[in-house]
Amino acid sequence: MSRKPVLDQSVCIGCETCTRICPEVFHMVSEHLAGIHDPHGASEEKIEEAMDNCPVACINWDD
Ligand code: SF4
Repeated sequence: MSRKPVLDQSVCIGCETCTRICPEVFHMVSEHLAGIHDPHGASEEKIEEAMDNCPVACINWDD
């Protein structure tokens, strides 16, 4: 099983970067908050690109 991303919603600022890079995994749950709707919806590489571009680094691997 591939690794699973987790998103700390207490830190997310709702910039929409992760949802633009990887909409298969991330979506906006409200105007200022992102969430994960399918943790295995994209390759680890693509998820990691979203992680690397999150301005507050609130997406991490659950390991
Ligand atoms: Fe939130 Fe980070 Fe996604 Fe921006 S990139 S919406 S701060 S989780």
